[in-house]
Amino acid sequence: MTYIKVKNVSKFFERRGQVTEALRDINLEFEQGTFVSLIGPSGCGKSTLLRIVGGLADVDQGEVTIGGMSTLGAQSQKQFGFVPQSPALFPWRTVLENMNVPFEVNTKGVGIQVEDREDPIELLQSVGLGDFVNSYAKELSGGMQQRVGIARAFGSGAPILLMDEPFSALDEITREMISYQLLHIWEAHQKTVLFVTHSLREAVLLSDKVVVMSARPGQVSKVIDINLPRPRQATIEDTEEFHQYVTEIRGYLRDRWK
Ligand code: ADP
Ligand code: MG
Repeated sequence: MTYIKVKNVSKFFERRGQVTEALRDINLEFEQGTFVSLIGPSGCGKSTLLRIVGGLADVDQGEVTIGGMSTLGAQSQKQFGFVPQSPALFPWRTVLENMNVPFEVNTKGVGIQVEDREDPIELLQSVGLGDFVNSYAKELSGGMQQRVGIARAFGSGAPILLMDEPFSALDEITREMISYQLLHIWEAHQKTVLFVTHSLREAVLLSDKVVVMSARPGQVSKVIDINLPRPRQATIEDTEEFHQYVTEIRGYLRDRWK
């Protein structure tokens, strides 16, 4: 059953009289619990699309619905968790205190109410931070901070997580390690994830579906189903099938460079 539905979405930006067509007629449908990667050249509208899905930007044409509800309705019900490029942690709070942020009452008087809240320590353990729960966030490396952000998003109670290049500031080795941790925490929780990345290997490793977008105006070039078995292990990267998917996606990206 369709959960996230993006229907005929177009988006323009106007700045000093200059109009940019950011997205043109985007149509996408995802079921609940799907891991989706968005991949495409810089400026093709990936962040804009993520923000539209999350109800943070409006559309000029078309509509987005979440389980039949408008995105604004979904947003008011705290259906979205965001994981941005750099982790939004409070540096002087401990890791555990940062895990509590989604549940605290904010300035608008709303905090997320969750009946059975997941154990924040277990979530931190699942991303390899079991020994750091009482460390201050500022004491952690960038990669560790980003893992807190991911664990927090999975524990926030939000069924949809929107991740905008969360690994882009990390070095290659850290990035690889974190991608496995994201894989494992996702396989344990199966939330619906939209994940923006420039990495073909991350897209194939993590996803059920990869959406390849073309350069401005952003359009959907191809949606590829990644039919690799789950749970996935690191060794899956050494398989012929894995490489075939990477090559296939690269081909669709290249087509658009011509
Ligand atoms: P991506 O995330 O794929 O790199 P973006 O969604 O950030 O792309 O941007 C898509 C296009 O829309 C770009 O040309 C960008 O300059 C433009 N754009 C994005 N946000 C704004 C904005 N707030 N005002 C004007 N133009 C914008
Ligand atoms: Mg972006």
